[in-house]
Amino acid sequence: MLELQTESAAETQELGEKLGLLLRPGDVVRLEGDLGAGKTTMAQGICRGLSVDEPVTSPTFAIMHHYNGKYPVYHIDAYRIENELELEELGLEEFLEGDGVSLVEWAKNIISIMPSTYLLVEIKIPQANPESRLITFSSEGAQEAFEYLLKELAD
Ligand code: ADP
Ligand code: MG
Repeated sequence: MLELQTESAAETQELGEKLGLLLRPGDVVRLEGDLGAGKTTMAQGICRGLSVDEPVTSPTFAIMHHYNGKYPVYHIDAYRIENELELEELGLEEFLEGDGVSLVEWAKNIISIMPSTYLLVEIKIPQANPESRLITFSSEGAQEAFEYLLKELAD
């Protein structure tokens, strides 16, 4: 587990960029945090690190945005998915299981199709400063899967 703190949205994006440079095809990143915590901000940085050169915006209404970076990037926001039927119709498994990199906001709404192993990124807003974010990175499932990445990110 790795815990880091950022003091601005730009800093969170820089951290995301560092993370994006370390991700590999097939990786799934679960972005956790309340509304406004900075999940999409982090995703923007990750996409930059993956050489996505289009603007990255919140996929809340589209559910998923697909970018072509170094690898295909699938940015999913499951906030609006309300039930299993809706989930089935979207066919998101195909993307999560594919050779791209998937970034998932509100994964609890698609928990039945989340892989057993993924990188968990939790973002919290400390009481003291509204521009600060406490960000923790950890491997969920196979612990060794992201060991290399956590080490690199800590440097
Ligand atoms: P989410 O996707 O989690 O709902 P967003 O990334 O859309 O959140 O929004 C986060 C908001 O918080 C943005 O307006 C961003 O500018 C602001 N913000 C302020 N400080 C930070 C920080 N340190 N890291 C990330 N976002 C920050
Ligand atoms: Mg968002």
